[in-house]
Amino acid sequence: MNDTLKKIKSGIGLSIVIPIYNERESIKKLYEKLDKTLSGMNLKYEVMLIDDGSTDGTFNELLKIHRKNRLYKIIRFRKNFGQTPAISAGFNYAEGEVVITLDADLQNDPGDIPVLISKLNEGYDIVSGWRKNRKDKAVTRRFPSIIANKIISKLTGVHLHDYGCTLKAYKKEVVKNINLYGEMHRYIPAIASWMGVKVAEVPVMHHSRRYGKSKYGVSRTIKVILDIITLKFLLSYSQSPIQIFGLAGLFSGLVGFIMTSYLIIMRLFFNQPLADRPLFILSIFMILIGVQLVTIGLMAEVLMRVYHKVQDRSTYVIKDIIL
Ligand code: UDP
Ligand code: MG
Repeated sequence: MNDTLKKIKSGIGLSIVIPIYNERESIKKLYEKLDKTLSGMNLKYEVMLIDDGSTDGTFNELLKIHRKNRLYKIIRFRKNFGQTPAISAGFNYAEGEVVITLDADLQNDPGDIPVLISKLNEGYDIVSGWRKNRKDKAVTRRFPSIIANKIISKLTGVHLHDYGCTLKAYKKEVVKNINLYGEMHRYIPAIASWMGVKVAEVPVMHHSRRYGKSKYGVSRTIKVILDIITLKFLLSYSQSPIQIFGLAGLFSGLVGFIMTSYLIIMRLFFNQPLADRPLFILSIFMILIGVQLVTIGLMAEVLMRVYHKVQDRSTYVIKDIIL
């Protein structure tokens, strides 16, 4: 028996984290399916049900479950904060050695949980579900998602077919060492790559939505694209933003400087007028942009130091210490 499995069995357990927003109709079924899978697994577990400000009576359904089975715990938000904050809250309160996230709408199948865990036991830190046979609208959801997944894989160097699948399994160290903002939960494998993680992907089942409504539409694609920019920046340059802003600034400044020098020489020694030359304006513009970019880089450097300090997060994560 390997390490993770030993830890799970010895009672530290498995935490299931489920973000829930207005999913009244699927809760009962979700419980039945989960209970069937989990009780057959012979390990200690808890299920964190995060009610993300539901207004349709979801909370009452959750209470019924909690009364029946105390292993199902509820965290209720005051209002709708979003799927990422819901997952984040689950991560904060989860105690399990392994944490698994899952959608509440039954599009993910709780029956896949054992598959994820056994893959994790092969020595991975994250096992991500891959909805190989995804049951969502083709034009608005599946197609944009294929492109987004390609871009994210390329930019982050963490190659997954399906970033968007909520069904993922994590080792405790991973979820306790990341902070999630915006819509970032889908990028956890990429975000966690900063601390050095082994990521695997396994095909999982996917069902079309039978109850309730999807909370997302096409507008999400735009958000995902903007998030990719943030992600790339945070992953590659957050340690030293001056490297990217400063470089661009120096380049712009240098080009501006060369162009102005040329114009000054032409003016002084060849008597050419400056007033009607667009190049004059461009060169001044480039020098100014250059100065601004370098300054932004410096400010970002200061911000990043504050950022790490405030989060009380160190700039590294240790795997072993052997003394
Ligand atoms: N969800 C949430 N807060 C939100 C939006 C969604 O907790 O603001 C939950 C939702 O209840 C579901 C999961 O996140 O359990 C995924 O949402 P949805 O099924 O609508 O997304 P889709 O499967 O269409 O991508
Ligand atoms: Mg769904």
